[in-house]
Amino acid sequence: MGKLLIVGTVAFDAIETPFGKTDKILGGAATYISLSASQFGVHSGIVSVVGGDFPTTYLERLNARGINTDGVEIIEDGKTFFWSGKYHNDLNSRDTLITDLNVLADFNPIVPESFLNTEFLMLGNLHPAVQMGVIKQIPKRPKLIVLDTMNFWMDNTLDELMEVIAKIDVITINDEEARQLSGEYSLVKAARKIHKMGPEYVVIKKGENGALLFYNDEVFFAPALPLEEVFDPTGAGDTFAGGFIGYIAKTNDISFNNMKRAVISGSNLASFCVEKFGTERMEDLTYDEIRERLLQFKLLTQFEIELG
Ligand code: AMP
Repeated sequence: MGKLLIVGTVAFDAIETPFGKTDKILGGAATYISLSASQFGVHSGIVSVVGGDFPTTYLERLNARGINTDGVEIIEDGKTFFWSGKYHNDLNSRDTLITDLNVLADFNPIVPESFLNTEFLMLGNLHPAVQMGVIKQIPKRPKLIVLDTMNFWMDNTLDELMEVIAKIDVITINDEEARQLSGEYSLVKAARKIHKMGPEYVVIKKGENGALLFYNDEVFFAPALPLEEVFDPTGAGDTFAGGFIGYIAKTNDISFNNMKRAVISGSNLASFCVEKFGTERMEDLTYDEIRERLLQFKLLTQFEIELG
């Protein structure tokens, strides 16, 4: 089992869906990724930053799942990154209402000594300069570097983002972001172009329509589980990424065949995340529930056909 370092926002989120509205609750890309990866019992740690307004109990909730937060800097006189979003009725699309970078605006990440030898590096969604800062601090290149990003950073910091993309092995982005990054409408063409930017593997997330894994000329599809009830899709993409890297770190296998299992694992974890508001479902999830649902994924995709 490999060690896993996760970089990303630890945040306050305020969410509005057709089913309700929250005040500032625990959120952030690194939060969702780490909660998801923690299901695999890997030794994981977060590098991030919060302000003095961030309740210590929130960090304790992550510690309770075995997540090391020594690399989460607390700027006592600063304010925590804040994101607010409102979902449309289809729950597949949302408007970002507020992105307040606050302490993230001039964050200098420091990788804790105990994670300098990390084998797996998950660069979650945050400023690409921070992602690059972490890559540069790790003396021996990790076995696998996975990057997740979003349109906000493409709009505001594209050059820095491109430098990071050139250094990674796997990129996970959603379909709209893949189109924006590549300038191609076809996701097959988009993946090919993104592949040329650096990553050998391109994962394109399509929300309730599953995810595609591209590797050279091969493509693998992981469906999303059709769910009876979806309350809040926030964090589903990060949870997917956490399920992907968590599975790979646990199995210590970076072959294409294992990545296929990893995208199924990501889809599986994401299907839980959306069942309750914020991180709630991810915090009470058990491994037995995950295993049980994996069987549903198998049944959903298996079929026999005569090739006559
Ligand atoms: P997802 O629904 O997977 O796209 O992720 C939602 C999470 O991403 C929320 O918890 C937010 O705090 C976080 N987030 C939103 N915008 C950004 C951003 N520009 N950079 C980093 N994290 C963000």
